[in-house]
Amino acid sequence: MFSLIIPVYNEEGLIDEMALRSVKAIESFTDHYEILFINDGSTDSTLHKLIEVRKRFSRIKIVDLSRNFGHQAAFTAGLEAAMGNYVAMMDGDLQDPPELLSEMYHKIKNEGFDIVSGKRTGRKGKRLRITTNLFHAFFKKVSGIGDMENSGNFSMMNRAAVNALVQMKESIRYLPGLRTFIGFHQGFVEYVREDRLEGEPKMTLGKLIVLGADAIFSFSKFPIKVCLYLGTLGTIVFMCAGIYVLIAKIFGFAIIGWSSTVLSIYFLGSIQLIFLGVVGEYVYRIYKESQNRPIYLVKKFYDAEPEK
Ligand code: UDP
Ligand code: MG
Repeated sequence: MFSLIIPVYNEEGLIDEMALRSVKAIESFTDHYEILFINDGSTDSTLHKLIEVRKRFSRIKIVDLSRNFGHQAAFTAGLEAAMGNYVAMMDGDLQDPPELLSEMYHKIKNEGFDIVSGKRTGRKGKRLRITTNLFHAFFKKVSGIGDMENSGNFSMMNRAAVNALVQMKESIRYLPGLRTFIGFHQGFVEYVREDRLEGEPKMTLGKLIVLGADAIFSFSKFPIKVCLYLGTLGTIVFMCAGIYVLIAKIFGFAIIGWSSTVLSIYFLGSIQLIFLGVVGEYVYRIYKESQNRPIYLVKKFYDAEPEK
């Protein structure tokens, strides 16, 4: 059995095309499959569209979440509901071409890979090309969990890898990082990421920044290290300055200056504020994890045969 997971948030204009192309792509390599649409609290007619399209394609199931939990949570809901021995994750805006699924499937089945991710060799969207590439390079440098090879959520896994991934219970999650973290034999297929077929990106800039911060904070000590290095550097600089001031005092060429005083107060004050912010960020994350709330809540699971 093969499962395809697609999170959708206000994608009413794309559901029909999504379903059609996915069904066609999957049926080129297997007839035994399910497509799990995760409705991430859409406020438009997405759910209605999904229920309609299910009448045409009975292998479509819908996991209707109780509100918008974000697309990492939506993918997680899909991973936990998926029944396949092979499971794929794909964005719901056709930026990831469903036609690539068959290549991924064959790589896993015939070439001994456990995980195959889409590696983006280019993108057509106007949005955030440079920043995303920079982020991936930076993340590779600071995370120490191996190379994500410029891949996002688009990927396919076998059952063993999915079981490993759903064991990661942290509530602040970054799936491409977790997928790299779990190990296994990982392969890639290359593709050019299309522009989204319709509508505006649902990952707003704010959501993307939060996702990036989640990735850095949960996979690296980089923020702590920066504090430590800057703190150490500051201490050394001010020790030297202190010695200079003492010498100046002893030999009597000290001038009564306020600029140096004021500057050092500003400098130390602002560094301390930044460090407090970083510490706060960790405290917040510890707090979040200790609450141990569910990552998502399901309102309804449409998995039975739809009535025609
Ligand atoms: N999405 C979601 N919940 C959200 C935001 C986005 O389920 O809160 C879905 C969205 O419908 C799309 C996928 O996640 O299918 C990727 O979103 P988007 O295209 O906006 O992100 P980007 O292409 O910028 O990564
Ligand atoms: Mg997109």
